[in-house]
Amino acid sequence: MRRKIIAGNWKMNMTPTEAKALATTLAPLVKNPEVDVVYCVPFIDIFPVKEVIAGTAVHLGAENVYFEEKGAFTGETSPAMLKDAGVEYVIIGHSERREYFHETDEIINKKLLKLLEHQFKPILCCGESLAQREAGVTMDFIRMQLKLAFQGVSASDAAKVTIAYEPIWAIGTGKTATVAQAEEVCRGIRETVKELYGEAIAEEIRIQYGGSMNEKNCKELLAEPDIDGGLIGGASLKPEFGHIVNYKA
Ligand code: 13P
Repeated sequence: MRRKIIAGNWKMNMTPTEAKALATTLAPLVKNPEVDVVYCVPFIDIFPVKEVIAGTAVHLGAENVYFEEKGAFTGETSPAMLKDAGVEYVIIGHSERREYFHETDEIINKKLLKLLEHQFKPILCCGESLAQREAGVTMDFIRMQLKLAFQGVSASDAAKVTIAYEPIWAIGTGKTATVAQAEEVCRGIRETVKELYGEAIAEEIRIQYGGSMNEKNCKELLAEPDIDGGLIGGASLKPEFGHIVNYKA
């Protein structure tokens, strides 16, 4: 049985002071021993948030990483830096990074390999645009994204990855995929993992849905057999996140 994983992606919100305040507000609300809870926060918020969640069950995550070990890469953050700061999970391949920062599948593959080499738990995002959905190529596109991202990744490492299915048209738009649409793609993702790594890894790997998930729609989405969690943007910045983590209550 796969354990659910519910992660907040705080994106470029929250100054260090605000981040500390938010983590403090969420502390009494975000509790569910049946779920892995992760806060993926901006680099500069890692230390203040770490301080607040120390001793709780909440896991620390980052929103990005660079794939080189060290050196002249002004403005970038290395895996060793994140490791030393206590980060466990790292989001890569988010559609915002693909679009605004021109991250290619090749870059995402390098990041994935590097994160696994350093024993992180990567959260790998994939997902189609509205045009791709309307053209009926959703699953072909996602299968390609996954095949390119996982190039050179061993089966034992693949199982450590969480895949987040985030349809681009549902991110920050208030427009959630229907439960059937989300489940269909998450099942397709599991099929793809099966093609790449076999049945056992496909059954083990966790797949999240992301895109306007909120306290109203989370219960239905998380009840689907192939949806093992959520990657939450807007609603992770509010007390509502506590309700999502306690989606069964
Ligand atoms: P929203 O929940 O704000 O739609 O964002 C989803 C997302 O991009 C999480 O990574």
